[in-house]
Amino acid sequence: MSVRAGREFLAIPGPTTMPDEVLRAMHRPAVDIYSGSLLALTDGLLRDLTRVFSTKGRAYIYIANGHGAWEAALSNVLSKGDRILVLESGRFAIGWGDAARRMGVEVEVLKGDMRRAVRPAEVEAHLKADSAKGGGTIKAVLVAQIDTASGVVNDIPAISQAIRAAGHDALLMVDTVASLGCMPFEMDAWGVDVAMSGSQKGLMTPPGLGFVAANDRAREVHKTAGLRTPYWDWTDREGDQHYQKYAGTPPEHLLFGVRQALDMLFEEGLENVFRRHQLLAEAVRGAVGVWAEGQAIGFNIIEPGERSDTVTTVLVNSHDPEALRAYCNEKCGVILGQGIGQLSGKAIRIAHMGHVNAPMILGTLGVVEMGLAALNIPHGKGGAQAAVDWLSDQVKA
Ligand SMILES: *Cc1c(COP(=O)(O)O)cnc(C)c1O
Repeated sequence: MSVRAGREFLAIPGPTTMPDEVLRAMHRPAVDIYSGSLLALTDGLLRDLTRVFSTKGRAYIYIANGHGAWEAALSNVLSKGDRILVLESGRFAIGWGDAARRMGVEVEVLKGDMRRAVRPAEVEAHLKADSAKGGGTIKAVLVAQIDTASGVVNDIPAISQAIRAAGHDALLMVDTVASLGCMPFEMDAWGVDVAMSGSQKGLMTPPGLGFVAANDRAREVHKTAGLRTPYWDWTDREGDQHYQKYAGTPPEHLLFGVRQALDMLFEEGLENVFRRHQLLAEAVRGAVGVWAEGQAIGFNIIEPGERSDTVTTVLVNSHDPEALRAYCNEKCGVILGQGIGQLSGKAIRIAHMGHVNAPMILGTLGVVEMGLAALNIPHGKGGAQAAVDWLSDQVKA
C-alpha cells in the first residue's frame, strides 16, 4: 500500500520546485531576437540581477548550469599558471577548484572538512604566510556561501575581512548557487569581487541559466586575463549589440521564466523571502533535533550556527539512508536528496530552498517521520510536531 498520488514533492537541493507562474511565463511563442520586447527584457534582467547580488558592478547571463558559470568566472580573471586558494567546507568549492586546475591554474586547498564552516582565522593565517613568501602570489580565493553537500553556511563577510586583515589583494570569488535569493548576499558591502549563481535553486527557474557578477576590481583584472575564451568573455558581452549579451541566440524562454521568478521575489520582498527561508529551515532543524535523540540520525554540521537555511544534511548512522529515501519516494511521493561526495550512502539531504512554504516543509517532515517509524530507525518522537510548535510560535495570528 502507498499513499502516493498527485504531484510529487521534490525536496532535493536543485532543481527546486518551479512556481506555476514561472512555468506559465515560458509557455509562449518565441520572439524576435534583434528588436522589440526582448531588448528591454535583457536590460531589466541585467539590472535586477545586480540588485539581487547587491552590487553596482556588472552582471552577465550565460546559457549554462552552475558548472558553466564556474568556468565563466574563472576564465575572465585568471591566466594559466596563476595560483588560487580554495576554501574547503564540503564539495562545491573543491569542484570549482578542480575546474580551475584543469584550466591550467595552480590550486591550493585550505583544508576543511565536511562537518564545519571555513574558519576565517585560518584564511588569514594562510594568506599572511603567502604574502611572507614574497609577492602575495595568490590571485583569487574561492568559497561557496552555502555548500549543498555538507549543508554548511560560510560567513562571507568574515572571510572577506580575513583577506583584508592579511593585507592580501587576492580577488574574493563566491559561489552563491545554493544561497542567492534565499539569504542575504551583499556583494559590494562584503567586498566580494566575483560572484556566480544558477537559475534552478533559490531562483526557482529551470536549470540552464548561469549568472556571474563582477565589480570594477575584477573587471580591471579581466583586461589581462589569459584564460578568456569567446563564449564566456565579459568584454564581448559588454558590447552594444543585443546578441553579444548572450554570445549568440538568447535563451528566450528561460529569460521569460527568470523574469517571472524575480518579479515574484521582489513582490514578496527579499527581506521576507529570507525570513521565510530562515523560519522553515529552523522548523526542519527543530524536527531533526528531536529525531536525533534516537542516536541513529543527526546533523552533519556540528555547530548549530553553521547550518544553512537552504539545505539540511542529515547523517544516518548504521541504517540505510537509501531505504528511507525509497520509502518517502515510493510510499509518499516526497523525493529527498541523497548524500553526495564523502556522504554518499551515509546521509539524506532535506532541501528547503526557493519556492517553499509551510505545507511543503511540514509535509516533508511528516513523511520523513513516517519513514523513520516504518523502517524502525530509532528516533525521538514528535519531530514534525516540534516543527509545528516552532512555526506557530513565530507566525502569530
Ligand atoms: C548546485 C550547485 C552547483 C552546481 O550547479 P550545477 O547547475 O549543477 O552545475 C555549484 N555550487 C553549489 C553551491 C551548488 O549548490
